[in-house]
Amino acid sequence: MKYRAFAASLLTLILLTGCGDPAQEADSAPASADLFAMDTYMNLKAYGKDASAAVKEAEERIRTLEQTLSVTDSQSDLYAINHADGAAVRVSADTAAILETAERIGQNTNGALCISLYPVLRTWGFTTGEYRVPDASEIENLLQFCDDRLISHEGDSVTIPKETELDLGAVAKGYTGDAVTEIFKQHGITSAIINLGGNVQALGKKPDGSTWTVGVTDPFSPDQLLGTLPADNQAVITSGNYERYFTDDGGNRYWHILDPETGAPADNGLAAVTVIGECGVECDALSTALFVMGTDAAADYWRQNGGFEMLLVTTDGEVCLTEGLEQKFQPKRELQSRVIRHDETN
Ligand code: AMP
Ligand code: MG
Repeated sequence: MKYRAFAASLLTLILLTGCGDPAQEADSAPASADLFAMDTYMNLKAYGKDASAAVKEAEERIRTLEQTLSVTDSQSDLYAINHADGAAVRVSADTAAILETAERIGQNTNGALCISLYPVLRTWGFTTGEYRVPDASEIENLLQFCDDRLISHEGDSVTIPKETELDLGAVAKGYTGDAVTEIFKQHGITSAIINLGGNVQALGKKPDGSTWTVGVTDPFSPDQLLGTLPADNQAVITSGNYERYFTDDGGNRYWHILDPETGAPADNGLAAVTVIGECGVECDALSTALFVMGTDAAADYWRQNGGFEMLLVTTDGEVCLTEGLEQKFQPKRELQSRVIRHDETN
């Protein structure tokens, strides 16, 4: 079978337009960096006196995290965990923290976020680029060991069964956004925008005093925007079926977010999920999990847990927004939309 593959690069655009005070803007000293890390294009931009040093330190931090969290680098924590043959492995504070969040959100979403899907992702070719559609029995065999409840984790010690393997692709960029934000704050930066392959984290306001604006990609035309959202010290993180996928000869599309129940691309009626909140790693974990869960379960999760806002795009093209975004989302084209409210049920 012949496959056509597609991996999105820097799809979320940051709109830097807006009316501000040009005099104040001219005073600020921006520093920026473009880099390719964690299999994606990243851009960091910080304003202020110490911006150059802050950006430099942030780049180094990203490289270190990339090394620590990579599944393929034989020096990484993840590689050590995945190749320990069932023995306990000591991990860095970063790995321990990221695992803690992933395990917690995995539990809260009844396993929709599942960081132990790596063997299934590999057999589909999402980790290697050698795409194929595995047969049902192969997936079933692999799925027996894909269960985050098999991870035993206490402090800096992590143990998984011999056959289990972890992958942090669903959470690593959100964690990295938080880490970069922290470095910027330590350097006294009060205005910065961090774009990690379309996952955006905004710090403070733009140098002209206006709010950062983040573009939300249209999953049906990924080179266009569906609309924009303001980001006020927030992460804006998207999971979508357009970000990494392949198509077979029959034109069927297979995307990189898998439903842990079936081991196949999650197909619960959503094309994209954007989560907005203060904590990047949580938003990242949630964007993946809510994509798997579908609109109704995502709405229930939001009503029960709160602490974030979300924008869902269904495969039918409807946009469902939680009520905190009702006045904030600015569509770029005519859209069918509905608001998800606290005081209603599905
Ligand atoms: P994201 O773009 O944050 O939604 O992350 C997607 C990535 O997470 C994929 O490329 C896989 O590496 C991994 N992944 C796929 N499905 C899941 C899942 N259900 N739970 C956790 N990680 C997943
Ligand atoms: Mg994610």
